[in-house]
Amino acid sequence: ATPTAVMVASGMGASQGVLIKGGDALEKAHKVKIVVFDKTGTLTVGKPEVVSAVLFSEFSMEELCDMTIAVEASSEHPIAKAVAAHAKRLRQKFGSCTEEVPDVDDFEVHMGAGVSGKVGDRTVVVGNRRLMHACNVPICSKVEKYISENEILARTCILVSIDGKIAGAFSVTDPVKPEAKRVISFLHSMGISSIIVTGDNCATATAIANEVGIDEVFAEIDPVGKADKVKDLQMKGMTVAMVGDGINDSPALVAADVGMAIGAGTDIAIEAADIVLVKSSLEDVITAIDLSRKTMSRIR
Ligand code: ADP
Ligand code: MG
Repeated sequence: ATPTAVMVASGMGASQGVLIKGGDALEKAHKVKIVVFDKTGTLTVGKPEVVSAVLFSEFSMEELCDMTIAVEASSEHPIAKAVAAHAKRLRQKFGSCTEEVPDVDDFEVHMGAGVSGKVGDRTVVVGNRRLMHACNVPICSKVEKYISENEILARTCILVSIDGKIAGAFSVTDPVKPEAKRVISFLHSMGISSIIVTGDNCATATAIANEVGIDEVFAEIDPVGKADKVKDLQMKGMTVAMVGDGINDSPALVAADVGMAIGAGTDIAIEAADIVLVKSSLEDVITAIDLSRKTMSRIR
């Protein structure tokens, strides 16, 4: 496209809340054959809420909450915020009058899996099933049952282990964006397919996929894996758009032919992307592709 055409299109995009950072993305977007969607915060609202909390060992609810708050308080992940807030409410409900966050040592973030640290002399791990496996924490059938019952309802289970044993769990729900289903089906009518690539587990991701009409899911994928998935599709000759909101999406946003960041997402994702969807609405994935189609057809 000519510099003028790019300028005009960028201006039109900006007025609709679609920030296009350069001519390159604008020129490629009309050729997009597949859109890779992140799940949490992209297809879903990104404001997770805890719907249940359970105990699986001799620790009391107050102790479970204390330990959980201690490690999750240092995490920026939206799930961490939801879990910590819920644990604080529970702690009060169970008679504790403290507002304090217990100290944590050796705090560690396990990207796309959870967090861990030492609280007093106890080792606490908070995160998904995969993280528990990695930390050699066994998961008994009772816990397994709780997890699968929640996952088929599109909920994510956050497990808490204390000193190598599962002490309790939180079930988290994050509703899909109201426009998600409509957008996926519209993309389909434009000849563009969609897939989910997520760090979350397969059952939860599949439940979300069914809800919005996406038929392919790649779950338990770490940030590098997300980028690799994009590259795989490109190797098959497809022009790929990636839509994401998290730090964990940045490598894939960079790898994609057209990286689109959710405006409400993290700064790192916004920097990595070619296009920013300022209103955080998935409708603007279509706005962006449409703008590119119009610009490019005017030129040729
Ligand atoms: P997505 O790719 O869907 O945006 P992430 O890669 O950020 O998700 O996280 C994947 C999974 O890792 C989450 O669904 C959750 O189970 C777990 N997880 C990540 N960070 C945390 C945390 N701070 N506390 C608990 N669980 C976490
Ligand atoms: Mg996300």
